[in-house]
Amino acid sequence: MKIEAAETLRIQLPLVNPFHTVHSEQSMRELMLLHITTDLGDGWGECSAFPTAGYSQETLDSAQNKIESAFLPALAGVEFDEWREVRDLLVGWEQSPAATHAIETAVADASLAALGRSLADDLGGTKSLIQVGVVVGFESDIETLLGVVAGYVADGYKRVKVKIRPGWDIDPLQALRSAFPSLALQVDANGSYSAADIERLCGLDAIELLMIEQPFPADDLEAHLKLAGVSATPVCLDESITSSTAARRAIEMGACSIVSVKPSMVGGLSEAVAIHDLCVDAGIDLWCGGMLESGIGRAAAVALASLPGFTLAADLSASDRYFARDITEPFLLEGSALRVPNGPGIGVHVENDALLEHGAVRRTIDLTAGL
Ligand SMILES: [Mg+2]
Repeated sequence: MKIEAAETLRIQLPLVNPFHTVHSEQSMRELMLLHITTDLGDGWGECSAFPTAGYSQETLDSAQNKIESAFLPALAGVEFDEWREVRDLLVGWEQSPAATHAIETAVADASLAALGRSLADDLGGTKSLIQVGVVVGFESDIETLLGVVAGYVADGYKRVKVKIRPGWDIDPLQALRSAFPSLALQVDANGSYSAADIERLCGLDAIELLMIEQPFPADDLEAHLKLAGVSATPVCLDESITSSTAARRAIEMGACSIVSVKPSMVGGLSEAVAIHDLCVDAGIDLWCGGMLESGIGRAAAVALASLPGFTLAADLSASDRYFARDITEPFLLEGSALRVPNGPGIGVHVENDALLEHGAVRRTIDLTAGL
């Protein structure tokens, strides 16, 4: 197949509830979509980088620039047999993982749709439903946190992840555990602690968490290794997992017993599958993280999470956890699970009036720019 035309679209999706993390407080999710037209049909991908650097170095602007000025022109006129060939044609894809993921997804969507094959099938998925959890950002006080969690439990979520940071950890978690004695709880620190906090973090052991995710900065594997040696709470890495090479190193060191993978942080679906295979071989529990994706990114992530090595609930909630109106048909909670799309390609449809409603700004990519 061959790419004949391409466009990027920037959209603004209002969030149902503002999402407060260590890096930002967001009430609007800005995203970039990639729409390609090929000789076999069209395809969609999503770039779920954030507007500003912080969570990662890649931003929506830098990713869009890379796609428009380098990656798509590099693919112009190239004939390929299947979507897995695309990534290695993108020079420096490792430095632009979200841009790479958007392109890989769009090409996979177009080529698999032409074959009548679903992305989940093509990746090796084995589940028709995937278990999901919900993430709770920082709340103003413990009472508000308890109310927010009670709402999600009433919705059907059985696993809740709470953001923590120094000053917001043991007390709110103890209150949650008292209010919800049997709820599956885990915490995510987004790298906000240092090795000096290891003793304090061991205080979380009494709360019986499923895991503590990324307590220390992404490059401080040593601190994670130390905590893993003294804490009863399993240590999970997220921001540290930037590639299969990084995942292999962390696992071989013993710095984690659980891995979270996000296709847009590792450079796409092929790399995410490589990390999946690594975790299966090493007996490491794995789950799929979320980036406040729209239905396009969510469809790709849910397809990935249908692989057998994803042993823990994904951070991929129902669409209504985030958006009053998504740009595709919404993902609905079935019990505490999402259904894996089984239609051709990514298996969801982009609704044009939803794009308009969310202020889509379209730019046609000049495929001759790199020639
Ligand atoms: Mg995380």
